[in-house]
Amino acid sequence: MIKSVKEIYKKNILGFLFGPSIKLLEAVFDLLIPLFMKAIIDLNQYEDPSLIPNSISSSLAKFIRLFGNIVKDNQNLNDALVGGLIIFTMAILGFIVTMFAQYFAARTSVKVGSEIRIELYKKILSLSKKDKEGLGNSYLQSVLNNDLYQIERGVLIFNRLIVRAPFIIIGSVIFSFILDYRIGIAFASIIPLILVSLIFILRKSSHNYQRIQKDLDDISNKTSDTISGARVLRAFDATEYENNRFSKYNNEYEKESIRVQKNNAFINPIIFEITSLVTVLIIFFLAGALFNSSESVKVVLTSTLIAAMAYLAQILFATVQFANVLLDLTRASVSNKRVDKVFEINNSIVNKENALTKDINVGEEILSFKDVDFTYDKNDEHYALKNISFSLNKGKSLGIIGGTGSGKSTIIHLIERFLDPSSGEILYKGILMKDYDLFSLRGDIGLVNQKSYLFNGTIKDNFLMANPSISKEDIDNALKKAEAYDFVYQMKDDINHKIKEGGTNLSGGQRQRLCIARALIKNPEILILDDSTSALDLLTDKKIRNTLKDIKETSKIIVSQRVASISECDEIIVIDEGHLVGKGTHEELLKTCPIYKEIYVSQTSEE
Ligand code: ADP
Ligand code: MG
Repeated sequence: MIKSVKEIYKKNILGFLFGPSIKLLEAVFDLLIPLFMKAIIDLNQYEDPSLIPNSISSSLAKFIRLFGNIVKDNQNLNDALVGGLIIFTMAILGFIVTMFAQYFAARTSVKVGSEIRIELYKKILSLSKKDKEGLGNSYLQSVLNNDLYQIERGVLIFNRLIVRAPFIIIGSVIFSFILDYRIGIAFASIIPLILVSLIFILRKSSHNYQRIQKDLDDISNKTSDTISGARVLRAFDATEYENNRFSKYNNEYEKESIRVQKNNAFINPIIFEITSLVTVLIIFFLAGALFNSSESVKVVLTSTLIAAMAYLAQILFATVQFANVLLDLTRASVSNKRVDKVFEINNSIVNKENALTKDINVGEEILSFKDVDFTYDKNDEHYALKNISFSLNKGKSLGIIGGTGSGKSTIIHLIERFLDPSSGEILYKGILMKDYDLFSLRGDIGLVNQKSYLFNGTIKDNFLMANPSISKEDIDNALKKAEAYDFVYQMKDDINHKIKEGGTNLSGGQRQRLCIARALIKNPEILILDDSTSALDLLTDKKIRNTLKDIKETSKIIVSQRVASISECDEIIVIDEGHLVGKGTHEELLKTCPIYKEIYVSQTSEE
């Protein structure tokens, strides 16, 4: 897996070199055009090109004459026509070259963007729950959307203009020196002035952009929260309160954006002012010289002035372009850093090299916890789990019961290796879990989460995700086992029924049953139900448990707050505030574990 965006830039180095270098060709044409203009005017004065005082102008004039006489009897018209055709040809060539350059720049930028996107996606999928919590979901989302867009744009602009603009500026200054050293000096003096102002402005913008990205994170965080919790907000009549909170974030973003725009707004006027000043200076100098010179010198001075003004226009245009390139790159580099922050995360859960996979001899014991401690926060004394030991034999069932927040789901996350224990050992199939291949482990386990999550797509798509080669018969079987067959086949499109994001168009109980069926399709070694029958009525819950009992080759872990859901398990463990306070069968626990008995009594007397 890559460690920074730079690696992707390096991979595309050819694209980065090719686009800008053909763009240089176009810049060369742009630089030659004013000189040809001057040569045409000079030829008007000097019949013989070799008499023209400026050596470059003289050579270009000779070049024009090389094409001979198209218009007989009128040398001047002929020179203008040939010179014009040369300029026209260069413009056409420049146009073609530019088309190619733009195309390659766009191609490279899209390619780089999509490669970063894929790498980011891989990275995000590889992050554990804990790793992700460090940055937050909204950060990841805005990196994938907004920051990636900024980077793509940055690459595009970089490839199109980063070489061309400075090349035009420097080239124009050099050619002005050749025209007249005084003009050259005047032009060269513009550049440091402009550079200093640019650096000053851009440094401020960079800070602002960082804050803007942060504000966008907040907004996206707030909106996604509001969208998923909209119903709760309405029920609490809290829309007004939420509106106010949202406005706060929005105002923050607005203020910051205006600040950066204010700052950037200085760039173009500063460049224009400086160049105008220089224009005035040049005209002042040359106008003085024009007054007391001979006729032929006057013409040469005029042609020099015309060419110089053309170069000045090019300098002006290229500097404005360059400033905007730098602005875009500043913004892209902020985004670049934000993307790198994702790539730099050290995955806390890593698959060991040469990890063991499926084909190992399994004894009786498929899973065991040995004095496992776990804390979510290393600096915190509070343990979510402390001294947990238990084991599960092949084909047997284990019940886990305890109040909310007692640590049941944390145990399940440890079994799936979404988390690693802070101390103690977990053995899977008799070997240390860390030595077992992560993907085989997760492939072995069929987990039905507390939050039953279904993906966008049809019911069938959700099953294919668990096992891409599944047949319709297998799906039907799993649906039957999970007591979901009847309701699925009562729907219009049965297994092709469309599920909305998160499964919101189904009831809680329907979602839970589909999730159970999806887990069964994997034919798992261990089936885990984490509080996943809570939305089912007791009868359906019981029916499902009875079917599960018949699946002999699968070991089962059933987590619940309801005694009725776990009482028939081969072994039950009772968790209270992260501690294991009871272990045994239902009958044994009633005698030995007061907490278990208390839960049991409170639930049976209710019913
Ligand atoms: P249960 O599933 O029994 O309701 P959990 O295992 O979800 O309980 O939670 C056990 C304890 O760990 C609780 O005190 C909870 O606040 C804490 N906890 C759970 N998830 C996290 C997390 N991602 N970060 C920090 N603390 C957590
Ligand atoms: Mg839980």
